[in-house]
Amino acid sequence: MHAMVLERIGAPLEWRELPDREPGAGEIRVRVAACAVCRTDLHVVDGELPDPRLPIIPGHEIVGRVDVVGPGVEHLRHGDRVGIPWLGGTCGTCAYCRDGRENLCDHPTFTGYTRDGGFATAAVADARYAFPLGERGEDAALAPLLCAGLIGWRALTFAGDARRLGLYGFGASAHIVAQVARHQGRTVCAFTRPGDEAGQTFARSLGAAWAGGSDQAPPEPLDTAIIFAPVGALVPLALRAVRKGGRVVCAGIHMSDLPSFPYRLLWEERQLVSVANLTRKDGLDFLRLAPEIGIRTQTTAYPLRQANTALADLRNGTFEGAAVLVP
Ligand SMILES: [Zn+2]
Ligand SMILES: [Zn+2]
Repeated sequence: MHAMVLERIGAPLEWRELPDREPGAGEIRVRVAACAVCRTDLHVVDGELPDPRLPIIPGHEIVGRVDVVGPGVEHLRHGDRVGIPWLGGTCGTCAYCRDGRENLCDHPTFTGYTRDGGFATAAVADARYAFPLGERGEDAALAPLLCAGLIGWRALTFAGDARRLGLYGFGASAHIVAQVARHQGRTVCAFTRPGDEAGQTFARSLGAAWAGGSDQAPPEPLDTAIIFAPVGALVPLALRAVRKGGRVVCAGIHMSDLPSFPYRLLWEERQLVSVANLTRKDGLDFLRLAPEIGIRTQTTAYPLRQANTALADLRNGTFEGAAVLVP
């Protein structure tokens, strides 16, 4: 197999030829057909997440076909198309796992962070955490659903019955969440980097009723704001934009420090929460719903070997939607 490998924090990924790994008990090996690039991959490469396993193959939005089925795997067969997400495994025994909150597991593994991921021609995964994808949809179009879509979906469930929804940072996640929110009858306001006309036009094309810079106020107060951009300075801006009793949801795994802000921005029962990881139920719910909604993902394809270019373009906001690596 070939892979783009992170040898040390901050270094470019290196193209490597590696021996094919055989799946162990309960595992599958997948021939990767597409792997989307997530902002979390940037956080891994930049060393913004604690204790990465090194060297590591990043990538946690994998679409591929089962190549080898390990001992004890009953529900997947050779040739099945599956998606492999960020949540690579959980302990199953901690208080969170027992409580149905496996996204908060005390001893999790994460694809592309603590176990090898999909910036490769093949990947090995715990079969229990892979999602059967069926045959509908193209590989590259499905890949961004596996994190941008899933985490966005989980964040959206935190919006409850909010009718006026604000999305801060209109990247891979928001471009999917906007479509789900519109399908649910919500009004979407999209906030981009100030002056990002292309991003605002893109948001309007996906049904946003209003799009503007993150320094602008929405036309009416929001019920819920979801922050996808890893920018702590957006928190007071979003709190300012939500109504009394409204909620601000931070959907990213990492954010720059929050600036101090006056308590009155939180006052009147406004809430500030974060969303962590995903549960398998989130994945199953969302992947069942996605074809019904007819979600269209906008993707920019890069050859696997150009993973560093894809990461740089994500960092610079060069494309709309999601980057996808194809072997
Ligand atoms: Zn656990
Ligand atoms: Zn991700």
